[in-house]
Amino acid sequence: MKTNLSEFDRAGRVLVGGVNSAVRAFRAVGGTPRFIDRAEGAYMWDVEGRRYIDYLGSWGPMIVGHSHPAVVSAVQQAATRGLSYGAPNSMETDLAERICALFPQVEKVRFTSSGTEAAMSAIRLARGYTKRDKILKFEGCYHGTADSLLVKAGSGALAFGTPSSAGVPADLARHTLVAQFNDLASVQALFEQHPDDIACVMVEPIAGNMNLIMPAPGFHQGLRELCTRYGALLIFDEVMTGFRVALGGAQQVIGVTPDLSAFGKVIGGGMPVGAFGGPAAVMDMMAPLGPVYQAGTLSGNPIAMAAGLATLDLIAAPGFFETMSARCARLVAGMNEAARETGVTFCARSEGGMAGCFMLATPPNSFAEVQAQDVERFKRFYHRMLDEGVYLPPSPVEAFFFSGAHSDADIDATLAAVRRSLAAVA
Ligand SMILES: *Cc1c(COP(=O)(O)O)cnc(C)c1O
Repeated sequence: MKTNLSEFDRAGRVLVGGVNSAVRAFRAVGGTPRFIDRAEGAYMWDVEGRRYIDYLGSWGPMIVGHSHPAVVSAVQQAATRGLSYGAPNSMETDLAERICALFPQVEKVRFTSSGTEAAMSAIRLARGYTKRDKILKFEGCYHGTADSLLVKAGSGALAFGTPSSAGVPADLARHTLVAQFNDLASVQALFEQHPDDIACVMVEPIAGNMNLIMPAPGFHQGLRELCTRYGALLIFDEVMTGFRVALGGAQQVIGVTPDLSAFGKVIGGGMPVGAFGGPAAVMDMMAPLGPVYQAGTLSGNPIAMAAGLATLDLIAAPGFFETMSARCARLVAGMNEAARETGVTFCARSEGGMAGCFMLATPPNSFAEVQAQDVERFKRFYHRMLDEGVYLPPSPVEAFFFSGAHSDADIDATLAAVRRSLAAVA
């Protein structure tokens, strides 16, 4: 019989750390990752046949739940017409039209095969458009694994960043400036030091890769103002938040318009996809119309486009977001109540179908506050929840994801598990 342990052992012999994306290895929580056999609706089953209520949602894409019949059928129908052409197909235009309709400043779109490529290409476009080399990002925000973006704040008075991964040249990292999320003064200082050199500011408008952090009132308005004043492009990385915190993404929630937006996750419905878009005047700088090169063998893949279109159809239906958001808010309210009942320092928050729980008394507003969590207690809580059949993202610094498939009964079962697990780690 297959077990998680034996599968992990077998995987470790031929896959680095047994995985193909580092965080899946459970290093942040310890223990053995579950090998998933199948997933349907709000549930995943591992190779030992154990069922989990799933709040990982493949790290965001599965907003209508797993194996939704409409998405599966769209994928099956597309597959019978060919898996990839390397030539234009009309579904690329269909999906681009949908994105343009939902994001008013997006006039043109380019599809990629991952969010990493979307963020990387948006930065190249911003650099090509502004003819500037430096970019500005925020500590704790994640934009995929492009070299320029695997950069953290330099020490002390260093204005430029240092690589956060081996293999990233320091000479490249020097072009990435790192500011603090929700700290406009840290951004302003960098613009004052480099008034003519910053091509773009890239930010997760609602941060989901340092658990869930909401922008402080005025933060994005301030970024918008600074970018306009200094001639830099404002790029919202909505790979996680797009079609997730609201149909029109974080920019709809916040009411601030970026120059470029990056997408991924939900728009592929579980297939590999990324995209970025913005005004034609900027986007047309890209090949084949302009000098900024960008390409991809599988970009706009017909199966991925079909899955994305079917997913957008479902979440654009009247009431989808209202119902999902209200249920997710009820889950979070129940978690906060469980914290009060058990007296454990724990709290949760949500925005649309995205949520976060924290080993903190109140939800954090900065990277430093997220880092101050009791990680050991999180690990114990995490494994208690897993034993109870609830699958949260295996890290204290990741948001968790709700879907239209999570029922009131799933929420009640989850809350019962939360109460028992918090009591156990009190
Ligand atoms: C997941 C994510 C990415 C990277 O997308 P991949 O498809 O994993 O390459 C980029 N930006 C944000 C905000 C993300 O959450």
